[in-house]
Amino acid sequence: MPILRVTDLCKSFGPVTVLDRVTFEVERGQKIAILGPSGSGKTTMLRCINFLDRPTGGSIEIDGRRFGAKLAGGRERYESDRALAKERADIGFVFQRFNLFSHLSALNNVALAPRLVRKLPRAEAETLARQMLTRVGLAAKADSMPDALSGGQQQRVAIARVLAMQPKLILFDEPTSALDPELVGEVLNVMRSLAADGMTMLIVTHEVRFAADVADRILFMDHGRIAADGKPRDVLFDNPTDRMRQFLRTLSNDGPARPETTP
Ligand code: ADP
Ligand code: MG
Repeated sequence: MPILRVTDLCKSFGPVTVLDRVTFEVERGQKIAILGPSGSGKTTMLRCINFLDRPTGGSIEIDGRRFGAKLAGGRERYESDRALAKERADIGFVFQRFNLFSHLSALNNVALAPRLVRKLPRAEAETLARQMLTRVGLAAKADSMPDALSGGQQQRVAIARVLAMQPKLILFDEPTSALDPELVGEVLNVMRSLAADGMTMLIVTHEVRFAADVADRILFMDHGRIAADGKPRDVLFDNPTDRMRQFLRTLSNDGPARPETTP
């Protein structure tokens, strides 16, 4: 059974259709890289998967269970935010701009949701938070405030915060695109290690080399639809569509680096 099933997902803002019947499945442990031009609906798709944005149609299933909606009086309704908070904890979200709480230390950023949502006692939540900070290489920064950390360190705290909730899958929305180039590698390395641990990950990224290395599959989004879905080598290098070629050219004048591994 797929861990995530997205069926006919639609989202409009007023008259503007941003997602148009997006359908795909993700197996447990799969890494999916989502590529596509700016404005193609990548962020909206991730936000609709965990109901940070409400879809205007379609369904999300996590582990075979309908997420975010239930039957009431014979009609299907999307659930309230309050009802969603607990279910949503199964789905981690890593934002482009970290979104740490600026008035909380790294440790407290990571410990907060386990305390509030999972109802762990303070001491247990802090122990868990230290473990997760260690996991992302930041044990020494537990007491630092976010503004004393580099962008790469803040993003690693954000990843530790997600891990502390023991999510079934993690959605990453361009996790390195707000970082100075020299800080990108440390975040990608943490993501590689999560991938190696078998975490299920959906990653919106413009890091084509990373996507080609780490992803089991590439989804290419264009105008709110999935325009290509397949193995990285096939979608990026062996059989790219004209749109894909055009998109890859916008990322780099040299074109994407072909992965060095052979199939
Ligand atoms: P991407 O992440 O691929 O760059 P987005 O999902 O952010 O694309 O946006 C897709 C389209 O949806 C864009 O045209 C954007 O202007 C529009 N959009 C996104 N959020 C909103 C919103 N809250 N209200 C109106 N339009 C929006
Ligand atoms: Mg986006």
